[in-house]
Amino acid sequence: MAIHSEIVSENSYNDSYGGKKIKTINPTIQSGSTVLFENYEDLKLAQEGRYPGVTYGTGGLSTQKDFEDAICKLENGHASFTFSSGMSAIVNSLMTFTKSGDEVLLCDNVYSPTSIFCHNVLEKYGVMITHIPSSVGSDIDKYITNKTTVIFMESPGSNTFEMQDIPAIVSAAKKNNIVTIIDNTWATPLYMRPLDLGVDVCIHSATKYICGYSDILLGCVTVNVKHYTQYNAFYHSLEKYANPQDCYFALRGLRSLKVRLREHEKSALDIASWLQDHHLVDFVVHPGLDSHPQHDLWKRDYTGSGGLFGFVFKSSYTEEEIALFVNNLKKFGIGYSWGGFKSLITVGKYKREGKIKYDGRHLVRLNVGLEGVQDLIEDLKSGFSYLT
Ligand SMILES: *Cc1c(COP(=O)(O)O)cnc(C)c1O
Repeated sequence: MAIHSEIVSENSYNDSYGGKKIKTINPTIQSGSTVLFENYEDLKLAQEGRYPGVTYGTGGLSTQKDFEDAICKLENGHASFTFSSGMSAIVNSLMTFTKSGDEVLLCDNVYSPTSIFCHNVLEKYGVMITHIPSSVGSDIDKYITNKTTVIFMESPGSNTFEMQDIPAIVSAAKKNNIVTIIDNTWATPLYMRPLDLGVDVCIHSATKYICGYSDILLGCVTVNVKHYTQYNAFYHSLEKYANPQDCYFALRGLRSLKVRLREHEKSALDIASWLQDHHLVDFVVHPGLDSHPQHDLWKRDYTGSGGLFGFVFKSSYTEEEIALFVNNLKKFGIGYSWGGFKSLITVGKYKREGKIKYDGRHLVRLNVGLEGVQDLIEDLKSGFSYLT
C-alpha cells in the first residue's frame, strides 16, 4: 500500500536519466485532464476567469498548442483551433457565425456531410440554408439577402472539383458584412492560403494530407484577427477536445507534407494525362489541367494540386460494368477519405449547378497515393480491360 501511495503522489517524470537530460527532437505528448496550478493564487485567478494559461485538459494541452502554432504560421492566420475531426471543425465554424433567422449560402459542391448537417441541424434551429452554384464568383451578389451571415465555400469541391472565384466572393461578402468560410482540405495550406485572399475562416480536415497516413481523424480551423474573439468564445463554450496523440501525428505529418504533396501531385498529373488520352475516357476533371473549365482560377490562386481528381467515361456503363472495373483493381482500395499513402477509388453520380458537365454520369474519383505511378497505371489498365 505504501508503494502504491508513493506512485500515486509521484509528480516527476523521466525526462532525465543517469543525471543527464533526455532531450528528443520531437515534443513530448502531453496528455491529461487535470492541469496543476502552481499555487492557491493561480487557482483563484482561474476561478475568477483571469488565469492566462490553460486550466483544464479541454483547454488544449501543449501537443495541441504545438500543432496549432504550426498550422497558424502556415496559414498566415491570427489563431488556430483543433477539433476531433474535420467535420467537427465544420460544425463549430457554422454554429459560431449563425443564429436563428440567419441565412447560410452553401456552395452546392460541398462535402455532403456538411450539407446534411446544415439541413438536419442548422435548419432545425431556424437558420435558412440556400444552395448556390459551385462555380459561383462575382454573381454571388444575386444570392445575397439581408439575412445572409455566412458564405461557405469548398474550392475545389472534393468530389466534383468545381472552383469558386474566392476573391470575387470575398469582395462581395465584405461589402455586406458577411463571414466567409472555406473548406480548404484539397489544397492544404501549402498550395493555397485563403486568409491571404481575404477569407475569414479556413478549415482543414487534417485527417487527409496533413496527417497523410489514414490512421487518425482530426480537424483544424484558422481565423483572422477580426473573428478571433467570437470564434474563441464559442470554441471554449463547447469544451472541444482533440486527442493529444492525434495532434502529435498531425504535427509530424506537417513536417513531411511538402515532399508528400509533390509526389502525390506528380503521380496524379501523370495518371490524369494518361487517362485524358485513353479511348474509354471522355474527360478528366482536374483543376491543374488546362482542360478544366476553371483552370484559370486555379492558376491564379493556387500553387499546386494534390493527388485527388476525377474522370468520366465516354460510355454510360451499367452499375454491373462499373462494379467489374472497380472490383478488379488490385492497387486502388475502395473507400472514402483521401490524402494518405494508399491509392483509393470511389464512384458517384452528382447533381450540381456548375460548369462541369458530368450530367448525372458516373464520376470516378481517384486518390493517387504514394505507390509507383506505373503500377497504378497498370492497375487501371487491367480494370479497364473489363470495359469496352
Ligand atoms: C473528409 C473531409 C471532411 C471531413 O473530415 P473528417 O476529418 O473525415 O471528419 C471535410 N471536408 C472535406 C473536403 C473532406 O474531404
